Amino acid sequence: MKFKKIIAVLMAVMCFSAVSCGKSEENEKKEETTTTTQATTTTEAVKEEEPIVVEKIEYEIDPTKPVIALTFDDGPNTTTTKQVLEVLEKYKVKASFFVIGDNINDESGKVMKMAYDYGHEINNHSKTHSYMTEMTEDEIKAEIEYVDGLVEKFTGEKTKFFRPPYIAVNTKVHDSIDIPFICGVGCNDWDPKVGVDARVSETIKQVKDGTIILLHDAEGNSQTVEALDQIIPQLLDEGYQFGTVSELFEAKGVTVHPLDTKMFTYVE
Ligand SMILES: [Zn+2]
Repeated sequence: MKFKKIIAVLMAVMCFSAVSCGKSEENEKKEETTTTTQATTTTEAVKEEEPIVVEKIEYEIDPTKPVIALTFDDGPNTTTTKQVLEVLEKYKVKASFFVIGDNINDESGKVMKMAYDYGHEINNHSKTHSYMTEMTEDEIKAEIEYVDGLVEKFTGEKTKFFRPPYIAVNTKVHDSIDIPFICGVGCNDWDPKVGVDARVSETIKQVKDGTIILLHDAEGNSQTVEALDQIIPQLLDEGYQFGTVSELFEAKGVTVHPLDTKMFTYVE
């Protein structure tokens, strides 16, 4: 950590020096004093922004046993996404988050990075969460690239799978995006009228080996956090292993060609 701070201070000094290049000596002297002040401020700022350190959830998936993937749409945010992460941590299971670009800011980005550090997968749910079937090819590509840029900025990795908003697709949407499309079994957990018990039973009854479960970590969706706290232990008891979407595909030996227009709910 100390080393990072020194680098940050050096960078601040260097940036400042660069700005003052080509100015008179007198001016430079004046700016030296300012540089010192600036460097101190930077050190304090770095201190405040120390990353949240989490313990990675690590386990190997046994491909000879049932595997499923938990996925969450419409984050990231600093409330519900965090609560979902806590439940996943409680049972030490991995999941995947399909994020909306417009929801990623400095604060929610840190939560997304936290999810990544736990070992969860970050995937693409478009920038604006609009009907992509009504967009041009360039607009569709821009939506995907925007999310990729931000996810890469925070985690260092691009997204690997795409879930179309409202599961709305056509040939143009498929042709414009070269990562696999994911759907999943849902329980309408975006609807506040669907209670916790219904979310649990509706999800569990649709699960079999290879299932992708579709839930939402949208801000305020506390009923899904509660349901998750029942869904995970019940499915663990039934012998299911929870993998990221990538791990599910790997376990099932399924590879997707970029031109493949399939949308996956079960990976078999
Ligand atoms: Zn969505």
